[in-house]
Amino acid sequence: MIQENIEKIRKIVPKDITIVAATKTRSVDEIKQAITCGITDIGENYIQEAEKKFNDIKRIVKWHLIGHLQKNKVKKAVKIFDIIETVDSFEIAKEISKHTEKGFPVLIEINSAREQQKSGVYPENLEQVLVNISTLSNISVLGLMTMGPVVENPEEIRPYFRLTKQLFDFTKKLNLPNVEMKILSMGMSNSWQVAIEEGATCIRIGTAIFGPRT
Ligand SMILES: *Cc1c(COP(=O)(O)O)cnc(C)c1O
Repeated sequence: MIQENIEKIRKIVPKDITIVAATKTRSVDEIKQAITCGITDIGENYIQEAEKKFNDIKRIVKWHLIGHLQKNKVKKAVKIFDIIETVDSFEIAKEISKHTEKGFPVLIEINSAREQQKSGVYPENLEQVLVNISTLSNISVLGLMTMGPVVENPEEIRPYFRLTKQLFDFTKKLNLPNVEMKILSMGMSNSWQVAIEEGATCIRIGTAIFGPRT
């Protein structure tokens, strides 16, 4: 099934879009199957879970952290992950900077629907957060990530993707040091088509590759 799913998705996703397989709860065996089918990037949400899988899978793929990062997990996270997609404060960026060397790639997570229970930078705070983070020479901000609200109809998420793309274009023009806006990570199994229409360069797909999570 994994093979058919990946083939189906790859057939319609433009070649310059990065497909990140969202692998939370999936076994090493399932992940290896996906890699055999051409998956080059995987996204994990939890440090402990990622650590176990990393010891087996190692660096044959690029590792994306797509779950919320706590300060006390940073030291472990930077050993596993090639990119942290969920930086949402100057404080967490400072902590990452403390434990890495020059140019560690991160994305800033945007709370595009301003949902209180969710993490991510509110759109109106992005510029200030970026100005602060741009002073950290060990951090390289490569773009933005957003989840958007959980919706029934993927059309309902379009305004949040559009807003995030506008922020992406706006912050590109700021020309801040250590900030090079290249990656726009948005869209999941039920919304990746809309996300690509709205300018995503990177989509994060779990269910549509591996089936429903149990
Ligand atoms: C689980 C997850 C995904 C993938 O979700 P699906 O609906 O299974 O495709 C994408 N992004 C993040 C941050 C996730 O936690």
